[in-house]
Amino acid sequence: MAKAKPRKVQPKKSGKQKFVYYFGGNKADGKAEMKGLLGGKGANLAEMVNIGLPVPAGFTITTEVCTWYYANEKRYPKELEEQVAKALKRVEKEMGGVFGDPKNPLLLSVRSGSRASMPGMMDTILNLGLNDETVKGLIEKSANERFAYDSYRRFVQMYGDVVLDLKPKTKTDIDPFEEILEKMKHDRGVSLDIELDAEDLKELVRLFKEAIKRETGRTFPDDPWEQLWGAIGAVFNSWMNPRAIVYRKLNDIPSDWGTAVSIQSMVFGNAGEDSGTGVAFTRDAATGENIFYGEFLMNAQGEDVVAGTRNPLPIVQLKDKDPKSFKQLMEFRSILEKHYREMLDIEFTIQHGKLYMLQCRVGKRTAFAAIRIAVDMVKEKLITAEEALLRIEPDQLNQLLRPIFDPKAKMRAIEENRLLAKGLNAGPGAASGVVVFNAEDAVKFAKNGLPVILARIETSPEDIQGMDASEGILTARGGMTSHAALVARQMGKVCVAGCDPLKIDYKASEMRIAGRKEVIQEGDYISIDGSTGEVLSGQLPTLPSEVLQVLIDETLDPDSAPVYKMYERIMRWADKHRQINIRTNADQPDQSANAVAFGAEGIGLCRTEHMFFGEGKIGPMREMILADTVEDRRKALAKLLPFQRKDFEGIFEAMNGRPVTIRTIDPPLHEFLPHDDKGQKELADMLGIPAAKVRERIEALHEFNPMLGFRGCRLGVVYPEITEMQSRAIFEATVNVLERGIKVLPEIMIPLVGHVKELKSQEEIVRRVAAEVMKENKTKFKYLVGTMIEIPRGAITADEIAEVAEFFSFGTNDLTQTALGVSRDDSGRFLPVYVEKDIYQRDPFESIDRPGVGFLMKYAVSGGRSTRPDIKLGICGEHGGEPLSVEFCHDIGLDYVSCSPFRVPIARLAAARAALKNPRPNTKKAAKKKSKRAKK
Ligand code: ADP
Ligand code: MG
Ligand code: MG
Repeated sequence: MAKAKPRKVQPKKSGKQKFVYYFGGNKADGKAEMKGLLGGKGANLAEMVNIGLPVPAGFTITTEVCTWYYANEKRYPKELEEQVAKALKRVEKEMGGVFGDPKNPLLLSVRSGSRASMPGMMDTILNLGLNDETVKGLIEKSANERFAYDSYRRFVQMYGDVVLDLKPKTKTDIDPFEEILEKMKHDRGVSLDIELDAEDLKELVRLFKEAIKRETGRTFPDDPWEQLWGAIGAVFNSWMNPRAIVYRKLNDIPSDWGTAVSIQSMVFGNAGEDSGTGVAFTRDAATGENIFYGEFLMNAQGEDVVAGTRNPLPIVQLKDKDPKSFKQLMEFRSILEKHYREMLDIEFTIQHGKLYMLQCRVGKRTAFAAIRIAVDMVKEKLITAEEALLRIEPDQLNQLLRPIFDPKAKMRAIEENRLLAKGLNAGPGAASGVVVFNAEDAVKFAKNGLPVILARIETSPEDIQGMDASEGILTARGGMTSHAALVARQMGKVCVAGCDPLKIDYKASEMRIAGRKEVIQEGDYISIDGSTGEVLSGQLPTLPSEVLQVLIDETLDPDSAPVYKMYERIMRWADKHRQINIRTNADQPDQSANAVAFGAEGIGLCRTEHMFFGEGKIGPMREMILADTVEDRRKALAKLLPFQRKDFEGIFEAMNGRPVTIRTIDPPLHEFLPHDDKGQKELADMLGIPAAKVRERIEALHEFNPMLGFRGCRLGVVYPEITEMQSRAIFEATVNVLERGIKVLPEIMIPLVGHVKELKSQEEIVRRVAAEVMKENKTKFKYLVGTMIEIPRGAITADEIAEVAEFFSFGTNDLTQTALGVSRDDSGRFLPVYVEKDIYQRDPFESIDRPGVGFLMKYAVSGGRSTRPDIKLGICGEHGGEPLSVEFCHDIGLDYVSCSPFRVPIARLAAARAALKNPRPNTKKAAKKKSKRAKK
């Protein structure tokens, strides 16, 4: 159990400590900023009073009392009783009733509220103060006996449940009060609560009290004061109930925050047909549209609206039932939005045609709505562009870049109980299709023109073709860096991974979901939301990304694309504020062009090895690898040269003058060789050597730990001719493209450097070839030579390395592997458990491990700058597109981050937010540099 860390509550020097804050009339002791002390509900009730909205008077007991209560064996500070009595006197005066008075009784609600809204806390008790005497006063006052007994039976029911603990014992038991109520309705031959008459309700009160006595042995208290203190104690006790404790743990809410208790005079929505109650959002929480959205019921109280026993009506219909209240509610909506400058979730009650506000708080919303509301509110001048940037989580932009489910249709599906399960949101976007359980079937179904969702327990490299043929990928096991998740993100596929409740049966070609009845068979439609991890049954309509249609496909005119315009605005604001550049990781001209459309300002990582797999290239590549002598190797390399040159030309042209960082060959060579007999035989035939010889060479290249083996600059150190060929291809491409009148800025990056001499040996080759190419072509061009910092020795000796390197690019994938001593490909077995056990707060391959890997980066930044003050610094690992890591890169002073094309907009926003939160002092210089580059 989480221990409460008691906060010392000390009396203030002057006078007694204030434990009770009054609100009512047009003056409140508290205000919105006091959520820590008054809880969200109490603070906002006070705020609504202060801005002149009609709120039934009441008072809030502070969270400090809760903390005191737990630090002092569940007793109260001695001043409390007097302060409560005094506040209640004020409430009585304001409302014109007397608590416990049999003639003119004031009734109360007792409501819990912590700083953050928290399920698991005590339910609200309404109509407190009723007993067999005071109910008569209520009858007299209201001239409505039925209403009075309806209030009374509700009170006994709620009090019996939450204070006296008469609850269903197991999940399958029905609520004991509901059981009695149902029996009564059955006996009377009616179906709705409102059809019961006063006598029935009076009888219910008796039966309820009897059941409480019988089942709990406790007597229902008649004394209103006893009722009140019982309810207050129940609120404080609920702070430590198991459900609340678990929720706090999951959401990092400290237990010493405590809960407040708000005690408020009742207003009655159940006082007749001219009364009612409702809930609303000031804007549509699903789409963000600026329309009033909500529901209400006439002649109803409390949670009747959400309880599902009667069907609530859409808020617009209040216009017909009570035009005056509706008009007023619309005014309050606008007053509240102007005041809070936020979309709010509100609760209200109408008593005999008079409207009261009972709650307001910042409304929960979908990611799409969050973006739309932020952008609209800037247009409406409610908030500034800077505030909007801080309100939009960078990952939420996926809602604009990826296809999404029609938010309304999804909400409906969830209401229809079609949400099957939730997994990890591993690949953003929305996909609907027929489910298949193996890769082969995925290809087959897709060939028949059906959209396919491939569901597997886990995926492996054999599934690649099936994954490619599918719209979406769903796995039961595996985390955010599992095979399925990584491949899906690379392919831009929707993916929900690690969806634990799925029970997939390959043999039967079906799947079940833990805790649900349905069996999903091959060919059934399902829908997966890779932005939220939700898996739903059936088909759902999707909305394509307008941004892609405008920017990439160029099939949509921006003027008829409101979502694109929203995106464009956010990006414009972001670019104004960010202080670092955003580059992309791209190996092909089309990828590069997409990235530029998304706003990439250069390539931060062009991997050359992918190029060797293309048409006509893998043959000479393998020939080169298997060569026995330098001459043979050179011969094979000469065949590769024109291919590489052409690839680079394509990229340079697409990047049109923006800097391009090209990494020399990095992976272990055996990755390029065939590993099956058939492939080896073919290779032997091509080279005209015996198959046994090929096998022998391949075996000789086998490594025990390839990640730490013969790769990176080690290849170039042992085979300098490879670096030579690659440099020549880059520089000849540079000359050719320059001749076409297009600017080129190549940056040659040497990978896996741990020692300055490794880099030196490669740099000499690069510079020598550059000089040769310039001389041969009688021309000059600019270029840079730098290195990746991706092993700890490189980071530690960064000052030495910077004597040679003109730039550093942090390869945080390998740096994480080598700093943590964790192989990413083998980490699936334990890293998810580590994250679950909070050993690492986040997967270090997703978000930079700041104290470890981040420390090495900071050390390398200062080492590099100490030698070469103007050294260019960037990052090209996967982390370069992850918002928290982008923020870190900004904070430690990098010049740019580089990420996959689809994450460029996310990185732009993340960089802007980082700059707003923690601006760099040299703003002007950075901005100038940026605009100079952008002009190119
Ligand atoms: P929750 O934290 O679950 O939202 P609330 O404290 O808001 O609980 O109470 C639930 C409902 O009870 C409110 O939405 C409102 O309808 C009703 N309620 C609470 N206080 C009063 C009151 N003073 N008068 C009338 N109804 C009330
Ligand atoms: Mg509730
Ligand atoms: Mg509420």
